[in-house]
Amino acid sequence: MTIVSDQLDIPDRRIRSAISVFDMLKIGVGPSSSHTLGPWRAALRFLDEVEAAGALTDVESVNVDLYGSLAKTGRGHGTGVAIMMGLRGEDPETCEVDLITRLGADVALAGELRLRRHHGVPFERERDIQFRTDQSLDFHPNGMAITAVRANDEPLVRRYFSIGGGFIVGEDTGVEAPEPVTLPFPIEMAQDLLRWTQDLDCSIADVVRGNERHWRTDDEIDTGLLRIRDTMVECMFRGCCTEGVLPGGLEVSRRAAGLHQTLMGAASEFDSADDWFHAVCSARPNFDHTVRWVSCFALAVNEENAAFGRVVTAPTNGAAGVIPAVLAHYLATGTATDESAIRFLLVAAEIGAIFKKRATISAAMGGCQAEIGVSAAMAAAALVEVRGGTPAQALMAAEIAMEHHLGLTCDPIGGLVQVPCIERNAMGAMKAITAAHLALEGLPDLARVTLDDVIDTMWQTAQDMNVKYKETSEGGLAVRIPVRIIEC
Ligand code: SF4
Repeated sequence: MTIVSDQLDIPDRRIRSAISVFDMLKIGVGPSSSHTLGPWRAALRFLDEVEAAGALTDVESVNVDLYGSLAKTGRGHGTGVAIMMGLRGEDPETCEVDLITRLGADVALAGELRLRRHHGVPFERERDIQFRTDQSLDFHPNGMAITAVRANDEPLVRRYFSIGGGFIVGEDTGVEAPEPVTLPFPIEMAQDLLRWTQDLDCSIADVVRGNERHWRTDDEIDTGLLRIRDTMVECMFRGCCTEGVLPGGLEVSRRAAGLHQTLMGAASEFDSADDWFHAVCSARPNFDHTVRWVSCFALAVNEENAAFGRVVTAPTNGAAGVIPAVLAHYLATGTATDESAIRFLLVAAEIGAIFKKRATISAAMGGCQAEIGVSAAMAAAALVEVRGGTPAQALMAAEIAMEHHLGLTCDPIGGLVQVPCIERNAMGAMKAITAAHLALEGLPDLARVTLDDVIDTMWQTAQDMNVKYKETSEGGLAVRIPVRIIEC
């Protein structure tokens, strides 16, 4: 497959028209879906391809070239160590997260990297992972090439593109989805989703579940989504109980634990995430506390994300705190059940999928509107659904949430997913809650802007945006505040 640059103008919709809920909400590790998870998955796929060629044990060395945004912000985003984890064959969903921060030193000490944990090749990070900041590949700003040098044979070279949210595209093998699928209720735009709810006289969550049954049973859907919810709660728990300074050299102190201590008072030691969340739900917060709790939840997740912790990519890692914060707000203040938490996540995922099909969830393509803006839209619609709003009100909430993120730039200082990213999640969560309440009180028929209008506007804005503001750390705060990066 040859991918050419003029296709850059086409949103991700040409890449995949059927997206599972579990593609939009994935368990993984921080700090970045496009710059950490994507390259990690690319390395895993590379291993698969080398093994399929029967060549793993012939590999004498491996080297990696990173291009475009991956090269410019990859050091701060942990791209190098993510690739090393992938080449080791570690699964981002289940791996021991402590290994991530140890691996660089382990490999440096041993002077080798064990492919699939058993086939050792000499490896020196500075030599074998090259950040080619002055070069870009066609097709997408997040390009990379992995080369395996083999004994007595041609090198195996593969190019991959990390297109946001942990999705990757391989130059030769295409997208991760093995085959195109036709869902019972095809949805390309918000209008399609609304029409299905009207034709079937059902909620948004019902339509999404109907499509998800193409891939899995109801039992699997429910179990998987409850696991996503529990992973979000565990992440918030860890973030609320961990103090210290985030890695990377920016010397950003964690704040969630201090805020948590203030809100919880003396009784703030818990044996498990369940016990902790039960105590949070019992706190019966007043309005002032609600705002602080939502901020605390969002900060907690993104501090964990910045520290290579386990998070749910929703729809990206940089924006991973928005949906858990809004979900926790609902779980703590509403009459929530497992069933309503599942409906929340079904709706959130579908809204994210529509953005992915019609625009982008990649900051390298669209700036931070593609991350925080999309996650706020997802959370806003989900909150309306579980608060008893109509499908039209849910879409209206998503529209309002995105409308007030249009043009938001991506300018992470030092390429680290810390400033402005962590606070931005708290702001996104509060905007999502505000948007949901405006929509619940609103009349969608009178709205002047539809969700599809705002998605198309977001995409146009993305194309008009200067490349400096698209995850390159070449504009905005990233150039105003210099920092010396310490790679993990
Ligand atoms: S500024 Fe926004 S888009 Fe950029 S890395 Fe941070 S959270 Fe992601």
